[in-house]
Amino acid sequence: MFPESEDLPERKDLILTGVNAVTMDPELGDVEHATVTVTDGVIASVTADSPATAPPGATVIDGSGLLALPSFIDTHWHLWNSLLRGAVSDAPGRDYFSVKRALGPYHDLEDFYWAARFALAEAVTAGISTVHNWDHNVRSPEDADVNVRAQLDAGVRGRFSYGPRDSAPADESMDLDDLRHFAARWPADELDGLLDFGVALRGPYRTPSEICRSEWGTARELGLPITMHCDRCLREEDCRSCGLTRLAEEDLLGSDVQIVHAVHASAPDVEALAATGTRVSLSPITELRTMGFPLFSELLKAGVPVSLSTDTLAMPTAPDVFTTLRTVEAVEAARTGASTVTPRRLLQMATLDGAHDLGLGDVTGSIAPGKRADLLLVDARTSNLLPSGDPAEALVRQGRATDIVTVVVDGRVLLEGGRLTQPSARAAISGADDRRDALVARARADGAWPPKAFLPPLPLRPAAPTTIRTVHR
Ligand SMILES: [Zn+2]
Repeated sequence: MFPESEDLPERKDLILTGVNAVTMDPELGDVEHATVTVTDGVIASVTADSPATAPPGATVIDGSGLLALPSFIDTHWHLWNSLLRGAVSDAPGRDYFSVKRALGPYHDLEDFYWAARFALAEAVTAGISTVHNWDHNVRSPEDADVNVRAQLDAGVRGRFSYGPRDSAPADESMDLDDLRHFAARWPADELDGLLDFGVALRGPYRTPSEICRSEWGTARELGLPITMHCDRCLREEDCRSCGLTRLAEEDLLGSDVQIVHAVHASAPDVEALAATGTRVSLSPITELRTMGFPLFSELLKAGVPVSLSTDTLAMPTAPDVFTTLRTVEAVEAARTGASTVTPRRLLQMATLDGAHDLGLGDVTGSIAPGKRADLLLVDARTSNLLPSGDPAEALVRQGRATDIVTVVVDGRVLLEGGRLTQPSARAAISGADDRRDALVARARADGAWPPKAFLPPLPLRPAAPTTIRTVHR
């Protein structure tokens, strides 16, 4: 069952007083004891003074003891497969790719809707207000439409990128006819200013060149931004580099293209990304688990625009941005022998840089007058954030997603006192187990569950020597 009625809260005029604001705006910087006003979904002012007059009817939020931060931006997330969490495990044959291949065909429209709502509800609790919905299981026009409906119903800003169906044969084109009709079905006045569209492509390593050329060409003809995975290669010889120089030679890279992961990029690959203005989305936790080291320092040094992503809820990860950022900081320190990235630079990756990745640099990503009101409030009085110090360092090194008490998206309060304000968002969470069980039961009845292993487990890096001590009691 879909929700019977829309339950998005109204946009509120807000006055936030006495808050310590980490604005991420290059000119405003951090503003202590700030007053932030929000009118009609827009940040109207950020000042160090008390407001002269409060807009009539505005809701006043006492920000003492709170940190304000622009809410986070996730640039690559497969919302459709969120219900696979729990079905994926360490047991043989239950890896992410095998489970995704087994259960992908058994999702019905309600599964897609509620999987997206579930992920977006979890996003809001983690302070994420913009999500790039990377849909690589579009089996029909309705599959795409129900995802857009879910994103609009959740009130979360973002992009929907239209892809092929999951596990489509390499020589099967995605539905380019429907891609042409898709944007017309969703005119701008139905998108509430919150969504735009892109295309999720498999690219030249997973499709024959004629399919790749027609998909890439159609996306560019329609003016839609392109996103493509460059990750775990199915052939060993491809794994020596991402082969991005070949994409550059074929004019497939550019500022309209986002490459996801690029963990195996060689130095010439990185140069090709930088030279063409191509953007990279890193999902550090899933990369470290299944692919290799994210090349954060190399990409930044070369001037490649880098943003942050969750990838999927079905792998062993969670959209906890603070934990992800401190993981990146620690891994970069271990990998490069020095602390090459600062907490503030990492926060920029999760906010402003994400906005730029999605073409939203003028819309969101910082707390600044004129931008849409996408922000979060952190309770800075929790044990993990005291005694207080530099707020960026504290958030990245000690912050927890559960410290986030309020999330505002486009002027709508979607999280208040740590609780989701939409009944339908709470229902997406409470119903997740039953929906996953029903999905597995349908696959089992059809003989498709338990899954057959799709990919053998690959040692992606030589195992480090370990000593396991047996403790005798
Ligand atoms: Zn992905």
